Amino acid sequence: MVTALKEKILRLIRETGPLTVAQYMQMALLDSRDGYYMKRDPLGRDFITAPEISQVFGEMIGLFFVQAWEDRGRPDRFHLVELGPGRGTLMADLLRASRIRPKFIAAAEITLVEMSPSLRAIQSATLGDARAVWRQDLREVPDDAPLFLIANEFFDALPARQFIRSPRGWHERMVGADGDTLVFAAAPDPVPAGLVPAGLHDAPIGAMFESSQASQTLAREIGRRIVRNGGVALFIDYGHAMSGHGDTFQAVKAHRYTDPLAEPGDADLTFHVDFAALAQVARDEGAGISGPVTQAEFLGALGIGARAERLKRDAPQNAAEIDAAIDRLTNLTQMGSLFKVLALSAPGTPELPGFLC
Ligand code: SAH
Repeated sequence: MVTALKEKILRLIRETGPLTVAQYMQMALLDSRDGYYMKRDPLGRDFITAPEISQVFGEMIGLFFVQAWEDRGRPDRFHLVELGPGRGTLMADLLRASRIRPKFIAAAEITLVEMSPSLRAIQSATLGDARAVWRQDLREVPDDAPLFLIANEFFDALPARQFIRSPRGWHERMVGADGDTLVFAAAPDPVPAGLVPAGLHDAPIGAMFESSQASQTLAREIGRRIVRNGGVALFIDYGHAMSGHGDTFQAVKAHRYTDPLAEPGDADLTFHVDFAALAQVARDEGAGISGPVTQAEFLGALGIGARAERLKRDAPQNAAEIDAAIDRLTNLTQMGSLFKVLALSAPGTPELPGFLC
């Protein structure tokens, strides 16, 4: 089927030539009229995220930030920022849990970084009367106070380029057209060697390397702000601790994997997050790095078990449901091990809860 967005992409390719995978992903997800995230709420329908599985997830993040804020001398003004807040569930649960420290809430200037008008509307409804502002980009948030930032399943949605190794070097993987079908094809000429890390220059023929400029620029900016003004950033996503894991570009629709080129605008597109690359650019800015640890380790160290017991005591009729949700978040065969948690903080500041193991 040729949707309006696919037609637009096909036309662009006919007029200007093949697109990089990053350019294709950017259009498929964020085209202002037909982009996947711009026109609908995909959560639940196509995929489900940790905050939608259980309120405990956002609560644990809330307690993490309250503790980190206390350990950093309780600044009386800070930016509390969420990147890509989806339905606003995590922020709502975080704020509810942090009510144990009214001064934390009073000091927080809340910003939600979100491109999608339809998701902004849902976030606003979820958050009710919380004092939040919406921005398109972190750079619109003033760089004038400590930054406490959470990004859950956000970096996986940022575009990346792919490169394939041939006997002649590394070639960019492009998206071209064969009639009305979008197809992958390697660019004929190799890219300059500097685009691919030196350690990969001898990789086997056919190997693939992925690189997300957008992710690295953002992680660098977050690191720079935290080193300058203090604060903590938490990145939670599926991905790997080391770079170089082949082709991780994937599409999901209605909880099933599909062909990433088949239905631009109608399927979610993601990459696995390269935590090593994010940590490296933040470290280059002078930031301290904690993790990545697995989501199971992080939530376990924060006391998710005790929190679940408490909820079950208060609502025994929901015990089975609560157990199932906690299992989904922490079981190593579910989200517990594929999902990882990386934190950035200013150097020389106290250890972060959840990373003490
Ligand atoms: N964090 C949420 C939602 C994850 S889905 C959760 O855990 O449930 C990804 C979110 O990032 C969506 O809200 C999407 O609209 C937003 N998003 C994707 N790319 C973005 C970009 N470049 N800038 C801002 N928001 C973006």
